[in-house]
Amino acid sequence: HGVTGILAVQGAFAEHAAVLDKLGAPWKLLRAAEDFDESIDRVILPGGESTTQGKLLHSTGLFEPIAAHIKAGKPVFGTCAGMILLAKKLDNDDNVYFGALDAVVRRNAYGRQLGSFQATADFGAADDPQRITDFPLVFIRGPYVVSVGPEATVETEVDGHVVGLRQGNILATAFHPELTDDTRIHELFLSL
Ligand code: GLN
Repeated sequence: HGVTGILAVQGAFAEHAAVLDKLGAPWKLLRAAEDFDESIDRVILPGGESTTQGKLLHSTGLFEPIAAHIKAGKPVFGTCAGMILLAKKLDNDDNVYFGALDAVVRRNAYGRQLGSFQATADFGAADDPQRITDFPLVFIRGPYVVSVGPEATVETEVDGHVVGLRQGNILATAFHPELTDDTRIHELFLSL
């Protein structure tokens, strides 16, 4: 298939590019509106600082083409801040960005003490043929999902909190698969 556009205005975009290199999948950094060309058939929204990313999305003109891509039902993968950008609503912030993911997401949900930690869990429900078992989860001042609407399905839960969602061609994780050696969630994304 085509090229993965990686939003590269701020945050951990290089780490996603490194995973795609490992998988032999072409990618292109999205820094300006003109970077979003016809070759782009899927988009990664990386971790970072969502408020900053949101401002830069608008000032670069990248917001509109990415919003149209998501609205058309094409694949998008948001990690951490990327999950925040995708959510329909945030419960501790008035901003809404793409508003596509049927969930309420809480920023910096683990607080300062437990801001960064690791865990292991599955991605995908028990009856999902694409289920990924024992995935290493890396959290860095991440969000979690406080409520899930009917359009989204829960893929990953840790300690009673939802941290992975899927909604059609939208994947969203509160954790950072790009900071591990495990490429399975990126492979799932590339299969969409
Ligand atoms: N704390 C960041 C935010 O709220 C997200 C952290 C991350 O992407 N690692 O935007």
